[in-house]
Amino acid sequence: MALQQISSFAAGQWVAPGAGARTIASAITGAPIASAGNDALDVLAMLDHARNTGGPALRKLGFHDRARMIKALGQALTARKAELYAASFDTGATQSDHLIDIDGGIGTMFVFASKGRREMPDGQIYLDGEVEQLSRNGTFLGQHVCTPLQGVAVHINAFNFPVWGMLEKLAPTLLAGVPSIVKPATNSCYVTELAVRIMLEADILPAGALQLVSGGLGDMLDHLDCQDVVSFTGSADTALKLRSNPVILQNSVRFVAEQDSLNASILGPDAEPGTPEFDLFIKEVAREMTTKAGQKCTAIRRIIAPQPRVEAVIEALSARLAKTVIGDPRDEATRMGALVSGGQKADVLAKAAIIGQEAELVFTMDPGLSGDLANGAFVPPMLFHCADPDRAQRVHDTEAFGPVSTVMGYRDMDHAVTLANRGGGSLVTSLITHDADVARDVVMGAGAFHGRIYINNRDSMKESTGHGSPLPHMVHGGPGRAGGGEEMGGVRGVKHYMQRTAVQGSPEMLARIGGKWVPGATEVAGPAHPFTRRYNELSIGETLNTASRTVTMDDIEHFAHFTGDTFYAHMDDAAAKRNPFFPGRVAHGYLLLSFAAGLFVEPNEGPVLANTGLDGLRFMKPVSAGDSIKVRLSVKAKTRRTDEYGEVRWHVTLTNQDDEQVAEYELLTMNAY
Ligand code: NAP
Repeated sequence: MALQQISSFAAGQWVAPGAGARTIASAITGAPIASAGNDALDVLAMLDHARNTGGPALRKLGFHDRARMIKALGQALTARKAELYAASFDTGATQSDHLIDIDGGIGTMFVFASKGRREMPDGQIYLDGEVEQLSRNGTFLGQHVCTPLQGVAVHINAFNFPVWGMLEKLAPTLLAGVPSIVKPATNSCYVTELAVRIMLEADILPAGALQLVSGGLGDMLDHLDCQDVVSFTGSADTALKLRSNPVILQNSVRFVAEQDSLNASILGPDAEPGTPEFDLFIKEVAREMTTKAGQKCTAIRRIIAPQPRVEAVIEALSARLAKTVIGDPRDEATRMGALVSGGQKADVLAKAAIIGQEAELVFTMDPGLSGDLANGAFVPPMLFHCADPDRAQRVHDTEAFGPVSTVMGYRDMDHAVTLANRGGGSLVTSLITHDADVARDVVMGAGAFHGRIYINNRDSMKESTGHGSPLPHMVHGGPGRAGGGEEMGGVRGVKHYMQRTAVQGSPEMLARIGGKWVPGATEVAGPAHPFTRRYNELSIGETLNTASRTVTMDDIEHFAHFTGDTFYAHMDDAAAKRNPFFPGRVAHGYLLLSFAAGLFVEPNEGPVLANTGLDGLRFMKPVSAGDSIKVRLSVKAKTRRTDEYGEVRWHVTLTNQDDEQVAEYELLTMNAY
């Protein structure tokens, strides 16, 4: 059978394999199926195309435009999911593995698209945190802003998730406004190539935003500079080699590394056999060992159980693993497919042998395969028991990237935490317990060593997402052995492709830069009451100053009895005076808010559709009977929500007869276009 020709997409052209191409074998049968790579790939032209065509086009757009593109890419991939599934079986993955890789990758795109629309501005500059007061009178302020890097993101991915691995990096990169060059691992690059074709054929991205290298990367990394990012996922050895590239070091090129990790799962001391937690632990560990045939960066490599429970854990786990149906992943009965390649199988067996020097093999099975499958990269689950995990070293530092894991016993929680931390930094540690004190101690003792701590028990097990699943909302990455990198985590992940800059200046400067009104910046008097103006007519800084209203003792009495809020500070002068905050009876804060609304609303039907909330409310000075209040209402920011309406964030300040601030908050309304 002719080999599939897996191309690169370089500077707007598909480039077929050529000199230097590598042959890729099916994981299931070992037969050659594809060819990828071309030594003649023009990496300089690719970098130039990304930096000078893709980047400028992406930066012209705003966050919301790019979020919409990411959603459309997710939809294009969804529509052609079946093709991706069909292509993925040869990597050794089962249909349920595809759900993690393909559906999980597409889901990640949708989460970033949604977060981009909800949590990022409808503009080009991201404000990182609040305005910092740098001066007594507020004429000189500070604001951290993030702007897109002006180079290219080179994404180097591992073989195990050819779709998710690409999309979890691509979504935040595109959202930031940075073009990508994706380089999948060669062993499974035919699946990534198909996903890239689907996205390019959907014609959603500007030219230069997405390029692909199938096969070797050539000397691309030797041409990167301070505006570029390398985002690497793979083994610790390759990460070390690539991040030590002199050009990367000299030019301070950002290098995000996600590498292998000796993840652990701890069985809590309360989780005795017969409890829901014990069963849950066995289920999670067995699932992590067999999903993707254990080829998951987050898979559980070390099973840490109370010493008296070790035997029960081995017994229950062995019984569960014995049910694993190993075979052709296309077969629906199959629960575990093959490793990605014969090379990977040899590597896993070699690593298992190293673990075997310190631990005893307590469970394995005969995969029972014949015919073509006998040449596939199948490896059965292998469970080890390490009797002396304190003196052992290799069980804590050897990653067998397959269905291999080691049980070890702990004496007390401190010991459990010490063992978990012996991995030297991991992507995830899980803890199965129903005891919140144990959970707190583990987080305190192990937090610094692990990028994610997954706690599960009878209360959360039905809805929990699994030890091994990185989620786009949460950070993925870990210290030390895990690479020291961090990806995803919502908007945090987008910032890896942006530069944070501390901008200092006057309120007017900051308001214009950030597209957000800042107290002290120009207040614009609109042509009419702002509540009569439609979303798109309102300008940032448009301000209404209301008339004032005197607060009387009758008002306070009336409000107290009407609402039932007869708190002593409003009702009992002597008691209020004994309180260090009040001069005597004072008006209710909520009365002031209600009066403020009465002062600034425009009662007639109009473009303000709803009051959707209030943020950052502060009462700064008490108001007594006889004081008066007035309101300043300024348009602080606007966020388009749909084609029909958008959210307006108003800065509201209440002042008294002496112009002292008595309250401040942000009011949110939905306004029609
Ligand atoms: P790998 O051998 O380190 O390769 C990773 C990537 O680096 C591949 O795309 C590979 O391309 C590329 N590469 C290798 N040498 C290179 C060079 N000199 N210049 C440029 N690129 C180079 O890892 P793998 O075998 O694909 O993946 C398995 C490992 O990845 C495991 O250790 C696993 O724990 C880790 N992993 C980590 C995560 C995480 O998120 N932390 C996720 C998944 C996997 P070629 O294939 O073309 O050589």
